[in-house]
Amino acid sequence: MLSLSERSTQVAASSTLAITAKINQMVADGLDVVKFGAGEPDFDTPEHIKEAGIDSIQAGFTKYTPVAGISELKNAIVTKFKNDNNLNYEPSEVIVNCGAKHTIYNILQAICNPGDEVIFAAPYWVSYIEMVKLADGIPIVVETTADQNFCLTADQIAAVVTDKTKAVIINSPSNPTGTVYDHDALREIAGLATDKNFYVISDEIYESLLYDGNQHCSIAAFDSDIQAITFVVNGVSKAYSMTGWRIGYTAGPKDAISAMSRIQSHSTSNPTSIAQKAALMAISSSQEAVKSMCTAFEKRRDLICERFDDIDGVTYVKPQGAFYIFPDFSDHYNRTIDGFKINGSQDLANFLLDSAKVGVVPGDGFGADKNMRLSFATSETEINRGLDRIKEVLNG
Ligand SMILES: *Cc1c(COP(=O)(O)O)cnc(C)c1O
Repeated sequence: MLSLSERSTQVAASSTLAITAKINQMVADGLDVVKFGAGEPDFDTPEHIKEAGIDSIQAGFTKYTPVAGISELKNAIVTKFKNDNNLNYEPSEVIVNCGAKHTIYNILQAICNPGDEVIFAAPYWVSYIEMVKLADGIPIVVETTADQNFCLTADQIAAVVTDKTKAVIINSPSNPTGTVYDHDALREIAGLATDKNFYVISDEIYESLLYDGNQHCSIAAFDSDIQAITFVVNGVSKAYSMTGWRIGYTAGPKDAISAMSRIQSHSTSNPTSIAQKAALMAISSSQEAVKSMCTAFEKRRDLICERFDDIDGVTYVKPQGAFYIFPDFSDHYNRTIDGFKINGSQDLANFLLDSAKVGVVPGDGFGADKNMRLSFATSETEINRGLDRIKEVLNG
């Protein structure tokens, strides 16, 4: 048999795949499963955004565009950074990609040499580790705890910085924990990055989903020194419920942005023309729909926290943003319930699915085996049904 690339064999299959396949099979078999697995909003893309996409098809806007995105969209992104984040950029410092995942992939392809180290926190978003490896970089994973809100400190980063450090990835609000970095912590990390001279990749995809009156703060906004070495990553997937449209973007140092554009020109080329028009509408029109989705998520956040308060042996950090809660279930590990031995998050996910018909995502894929990720991008009725079931099998 012909051999495959080492690169491809080193990429781990998503650890969430097995449980997702099992959930889908149970649903296909007609079983009543309550699902908390979704990594996307449950709302429809707002009507005016869909119409912008349809109009662009009707107008024949269906050909190649400039590789880094149409200038109207890049200009709208420049305006967004100015208005929302107090950041000034030239359009040449902005690139539009095929989703924010692709944005981060291209950044890492543009900046990493073999052996370069990229630092990020565990619990982490599953793709960071594989994307760093695909860029021939070395993931440097730093454990964080619930006590520190799962947020990296500058001291923790400083302890692992070497002359191979190329970048740190910050994700606030976070997937999977829903936690948010406070401004002082970001300022200290910014100081370390400028002092030691490594890039910051700031994944701000959940910027608009913040609760309790929290204000988003972009690490790039402290001063021009940190802005010069930071990639501010954002996109339309989570804010506008546009995960399928595949539009992400970043602003960053001009030489790196043009390197990303060269890489993109030989791989995907431009992001889909009609999706760019829809993203333009999303970013430059009224933000009312975003606000009402955020309000709905906050109510669901309150509900799911309240319901977890009533379950023995489960602790959590109250999510301050995004639409995930990442409770610690480890008090239930090493228990045998209904003949089911629970040794870790995979076992517990299987147990909850088989015994309670509740689908959750095991934490080991996020580098945190004590925890489980539940998405509250689902209705209050489903949250109540699911938590009733979890309570019954764990407390009973
Ligand atoms: C969803 C997500 C992204 C990217 O989403 P796209 O659909 O590719 O734009 C990036 N980072 C985190 C942490 C996410 O959860």
